[in-house]
Amino acid sequence: MKRNDKVIIKKYCPICDCEHEIIINEKEGIATIKGEEIKYMKKVYFCPNADEAECEFSDSKIMDSNLLAAKDAYRVKTGLLTSYDIKDIRSKYGLTQSEFALLLDCGEITITRYETKQIQDKCHDEQMRLFRDNPRYAFECLKSHKELFDYKKYSELNDCFLNIVETEGKEASSRELLRTIYSKYDSPSLDNGNKTLDIDILEAIISYFASKIKYLYKVRLMKLLWYTDMIFYNNYGVSMTGLVYTHKQYGALPIGHHEIIGLYNVYTEEEYDQSSENFLTRIYDNKNLNYKFTDEELKVLELVKDKFIQYSGAEIAEYMHKEKAYIHTNFGDIISYEWAKDLNN
Ligand SMILES: [Zn+2]
Repeated sequence: MKRNDKVIIKKYCPICDCEHEIIINEKEGIATIKGEEIKYMKKVYFCPNADEAECEFSDSKIMDSNLLAAKDAYRVKTGLLTSYDIKDIRSKYGLTQSEFALLLDCGEITITRYETKQIQDKCHDEQMRLFRDNPRYAFECLKSHKELFDYKKYSELNDCFLNIVETEGKEASSRELLRTIYSKYDSPSLDNGNKTLDIDILEAIISYFASKIKYLYKVRLMKLLWYTDMIFYNNYGVSMTGLVYTHKQYGALPIGHHEIIGLYNVYTEEEYDQSSENFLTRIYDNKNLNYKFTDEELKVLELVKDKFIQYSGAEIAEYMHKEKAYIHTNFGDIISYEWAKDLNN
């Protein structure tokens, strides 16, 4: 249970010698691990009924969890995977602790130890990282250990691993296409708003607008991206996405717009439009993305969304045509972020 951000549990309290509501407090703790002093967030039980001098207590469960927290803090400090990272890799591939250990050729309880108490050695750390970052390597590992699994389990894992290989392969190659086009803009400048291309945030912004605006088509999206980047640049001196925009007939258009729409994590559907007798690319949100915007980023996104939510693609284009950034540049020119300060409204 949570109350005012405090975790409260019902538990035996040794101070009062009875069961009642206990608060779990977090505070900074210091532990020495492998000769290094490590700061970490330590949990203690807190009895709200006791005197201030003796209101805290612990048990073996919370001490184990504190020890693991201290070790994870050590792992973060020394650049090793944390116990949570290891758990995440395992669940990504649908593996139990002992199955993961089998694939890495280490003792059956090795992974269990890494997730609960022991700090892994450098060599195993690299192996697990490779497993996480390179699904094809993971798939090879699985294939070479085929005889260790029964038929049903193996085919289950085979499907799961193959799916990850395919998905991540498509994701990586769609990103590579866009990155290739942006290789010219690999240092901060007025072309990219002092930021190099950031595909994670670009995908998240597109999904954000698609979740807020019901009929979001490509033309409209491109304009929303431009306003988002320009306003953010004007406020904070950097763009959000690092996109480079050019002056085109219908307003500002980012370089690589086909490839942006082609990103694996940008969900689109071709729809036939009766009035223009054309196929239009409609954008949908992608709920699988878990990018966290900062407050500053969200403020700008909301501003752009609120301003243009009622505008059609053509109306935004018309609005944009009145921008100095558009009036003072020529067809095909890159629109410098310098124009951000002259935006209307
Ligand atoms: Zn108590």
